[in-house]
Amino acid sequence: MSTSIRRRQVLAGLAAGSSSVLLGSHTSVAQTAAVAALPTDPLRITRVRAIATAPDGIRLVVVKVETSQPGLYGLGCATFNQRPLAVIEAVNSYLDPFARGRSADNIEDLWQTAYTSSYWRNGPVLNNALSGLDMALWDIKGKRAGMPVYQLLGGRCRFAVDLYAHAGGRDAKETEDSVRSFVEQGFRHVRIQLGGYGSAHLSQNPAFRDAGFGLPEDEHMDAGPYLRMMPRVFEHVRATLGDEVELLHDVHERVEPIEAIRLVKELEQYRPFFVEDPFAPEQNGYFKILRQQTSCPIAMGELFNNPHEWTDLITGRYIDFIRVHLSQIGGLTPARKLAALAEHFGVRSAWHGPGDVSPVGHACNAHLDLAIHNFGIQEGPRFSERLREVFPGCPEIRDGFLHINELPGFGIDLDETQAARYPLPEDPGFWKPVRRRDGTAVRP
Ligand code: MG
Repeated sequence: MSTSIRRRQVLAGLAAGSSSVLLGSHTSVAQTAAVAALPTDPLRITRVRAIATAPDGIRLVVVKVETSQPGLYGLGCATFNQRPLAVIEAVNSYLDPFARGRSADNIEDLWQTAYTSSYWRNGPVLNNALSGLDMALWDIKGKRAGMPVYQLLGGRCRFAVDLYAHAGGRDAKETEDSVRSFVEQGFRHVRIQLGGYGSAHLSQNPAFRDAGFGLPEDEHMDAGPYLRMMPRVFEHVRATLGDEVELLHDVHERVEPIEAIRLVKELEQYRPFFVEDPFAPEQNGYFKILRQQTSCPIAMGELFNNPHEWTDLITGRYIDFIRVHLSQIGGLTPARKLAALAEHFGVRSAWHGPGDVSPVGHACNAHLDLAIHNFGIQEGPRFSERLREVFPGCPEIRDGFLHINELPGFGIDLDETQAARYPLPEDPGFWKPVRRRDGTAVRP
């Protein structure tokens, strides 16, 4: 009798509960145990494809993984708003042929083999494509188990996901009013920005435009006005709204490292919940220097793609919140490991969650947020009516918390007919240049 026939008989016997097959005269108990440990015929991946849609003008890419079980599929977020076409190509031309025919059950194995299938790895385009596949496999796993994904991760640590809102204004009073409106909606945590990133409206007379350097629409920012005004805005908001509201701020890496250190030290007295991205990832070495000078909580990581970028910051205890964008690091599989690493070093999560994460990605954030002990805070999304039509089952925001439904998997679907109504904009997408007065490019 061939091994494969014998294996099928054993498995058929297992399915039927037949002890005569399990303990047949030609099979030892040990052999039977070894054979029975093999999985049943695995669920196969039959197709992996990228679906693009832009209901709110933001270029969303979602990956749909179809399986050998009719009607069973999963969805994952592969949204990279600045390079969506490259991600779509990576999914359709590379991941699809790589994954077809492979088991949909072995998520870790598929992640590892797909990760190294390009040999060169850890870049944002391929990580996003990989994330689409990875999250979709978790979605499928949850559907197979009849459970929400957070249950597969160990169950709930909290009843809902606490969010922070984005407030801001052109001056301190407008910012105060904006914060107040979010507090009235139930938010406890509010990020404050003065006129957006870098307070560009405070800058005047960009000489580079008169000189014809760059393009006229390139943005201008002077670090000085921003650095002087931000502490005054914090002072005003604390004075008018008191201590209950938690205030956050994003430096967005736009100033020199020593300027950021001075700013964070000035802001410390207003007890920020965290100050985010004081340095660009290329200046990671400054976090140790910053830590020696202030106890202001620091968040970092939305631009990270590579484990080498976050490992030392976490194990050195130089940051308080890890803020990666889940699809940028390759999906839920690496993110749950990152969360576990951070927990051991007292670092909490604050996953990146702006509009350029698809609702599928927001749902994935929320499932992980619910399941990990070291959850810190979640950047609050906004879901328009159009987004909710395209993504049935979209999470909901109530009283400053994000709530998911209890459907199996991520509990969210994609209506492809609705999605097709919102094609990507003609503009393929890029981060607009920001320049100093003399035209020097500023890193975002
Ligand atoms: Mg940021």
